[in-house]
Amino acid sequence: MTQTVTIGNVEVGQSTFTVIAGPCSIESKDQFHSTAELVTAHGASIVRGGIFKMRTQPDAFQGLGDQAIALVQSLKQKLAVPFVAEITDPRQIEQLLPIVDCFQVGSRNMYNYELLKELGLYKKPVLLKRGFSALIKEWIKAADYVLSGGNEQVILCERGIRSFEGPMRNTLDLAAVAYLKAHTSFPVVVDPSHGTGRPELVAPMVKAAIASGADGVMVEVHPDPDKALSDGFQALSFDGFSSMMDQIKPYLNLANKSLTTYG
Ligand code: PEP
Ligand code: MN
Repeated sequence: MTQTVTIGNVEVGQSTFTVIAGPCSIESKDQFHSTAELVTAHGASIVRGGIFKMRTQPDAFQGLGDQAIALVQSLKQKLAVPFVAEITDPRQIEQLLPIVDCFQVGSRNMYNYELLKELGLYKKPVLLKRGFSALIKEWIKAADYVLSGGNEQVILCERGIRSFEGPMRNTLDLAAVAYLKAHTSFPVVVDPSHGTGRPELVAPMVKAAIASGADGVMVEVHPDPDKALSDGFQALSFDGFSSMMDQIKPYLNLANKSLTTYG
């Protein structure tokens, strides 16, 4: 039986499906707000947006950092939509606590036990991404670090694992989703953007995520993917996102799941 985890006023888990969407990184007010407005108008109930980015290249865009905080605050005044952002360092907790409704722990930090222990001391939900070479049992143990601090609000996010595959950025492990649904009570969300690295594969993998029993998805969207400062190659355009939301309706009906709403 899946537990529910409440992000803002959105209950993730049980017989619903939650769409989390937004840009990889918050880049500007216009880029972030227009994306948040578009995705919520088409059925997303939680907005994402990177503030502190974990980039492979040290000279790549590292996120707006402090400057993004006001852009999140002004969005929340307009939309009152729950917001999730990645935390990359325990020293960001106090700054992020007032503006995030859920802390995202990224793939590269799944093994950062000090960060996980610290997040266990707060009541804020944690979206724990799978390390890109993590065994399922290691991922569950990482979640247990948060639980053991007293914070039971943990959602697991399958975001693809590293394999020998060529055209895909990662190999999206949807069997892991079905496994977790059968053997644990964590809500499970799928990230087909990082899981495939290809926008044309996002909608098919969302449909497959519904079939595998996922409680939701997290998808990257950008007003102009070619100009994005991070992960533009995998982002859905506005049209791509609205088309995806139309396409998944029959799949949700078949699975007897309704979309969560934030209002
Ligand atoms: C992200 O969600 O933008 C991200 C960096 O994801 P991951 O940690 O899965 O690579
Ligand atoms: Mn990204």
